[in-house]
Amino acid sequence: MKRILFALLFVVGTANAQYFTYKVKDWNNNKVYSFEYSPILKQHLDEWFSNAEKMNMEICVLEKLGGVFWSNQITFYTKPSFGLALMFKDSPMLVLVDDNIPTYLPTFINAVLYHELAHLFTKNNRHPKHGVPYILQDGKNIKIENVIKTWNDEAKIEYFQYLKLKMK
Ligand SMILES: [Zn+2]
Repeated sequence: MKRILFALLFVVGTANAQYFTYKVKDWNNNKVYSFEYSPILKQHLDEWFSNAEKMNMEICVLEKLGGVFWSNQITFYTKPSFGLALMFKDSPMLVLVDDNIPTYLPTFINAVLYHELAHLFTKNNRHPKHGVPYILQDGKNIKIENVIKTWNDEAKIEYFQYLKLKMK
């Protein structure tokens, strides 16, 4: 069933969109991972990986990542949401960021991408209630204006420290 959904996403979701291939060289073992991405997310992906390298993150989970897309398909899978991490056992995993987020809110787009990548890297779709970085809470508890006020370099370091802890 999941496989069918995955195929459908590509039929329905890619008709008018342009995608590129993102390549990342693993700083730990020189392996190169690649996945598809929507160009609007490139600056945020570049920043995520630059920070991840500084924090010496383990990134081998990228082997299973099929794509990071600016997408109108989220409601196909779940209730309206700013982002979604689709994690499958036998198919490539996908990260979707809702294309309804206004592009004049780049900080919020950035935070949504970080949130979804955290699901992928911790292999967990739940939202712990306490002691987590603000942007990793359940989306219904996150206020956009708070994200825009507080999502800075310091918060990003806290985010990666939290991820590293959860990936152990
Ligand atoms: Zn989430």
